Amino acid sequence: GKKEFLNINQLAEEYLNLSYHGLRAKDKTFNSKIDTSFDLKIEAIEVVPQDIGRVFLNIINNAFYAVNEKFKKHPKDYQPEVSVSTEMLNDKVHLHISDNGGGMPKKIINKIFQPFFTTKPTGQGTGLGLSMSYDIVKAHHGELTVKSVENEGTTFTITLPINIK
Ligand code: ADP
Ligand code: MG
Repeated sequence: GKKEFLNINQLAEEYLNLSYHGLRAKDKTFNSKIDTSFDLKIEAIEVVPQDIGRVFLNIINNAFYAVNEKFKKHPKDYQPEVSVSTEMLNDKVHLHISDNGGGMPKKIINKIFQPFFTTKPTGQGTGLGLSMSYDIVKAHHGELTVKSVENEGTTFTITLPINIK
């Protein structure tokens, strides 16, 4: 793919809608509160849109999966929430994807960027999403980081420089 200048907010919004509607169509039980708070000051950055799109899609799908699993276990007293936000800090764009799903214990967090690591049942996960995402973000001279608390939720942050040399 070719690098293009684009507003990361638009890309995030587009893929978020895609993912959410896909999940709603597939799983009728799913009902989630989606928070989006995009930073309006955000500048256009130079990325390969399909590649950054795949990273975003994988992380957002993981988030929806996590909240959906928790919802199935606690349908009466749990409100699934997924939120996406961007911010500009130190000449970098930060894209945060948060969920209030099951989170991860430390011993899992340490493995999630390894190829083929998955905790999903056979047929539901390849374990390649995050390792691929990590490589794509690195190829954009960015960072992919995660914060997760077991039983509370998870936040992934994609950080990209505004000027790619
Ligand atoms: P896959 O989705 O095919 O399992 P990924 O590389 O995308 O592969 O993710 C690897 C693993 O990381 C998942 O199987 C899951 O255990 C964990 N994981 C990723 N995102 C989340 C999340 N938002 N909440 C909880 N666990 C997650
Ligand atoms: Mg995945």
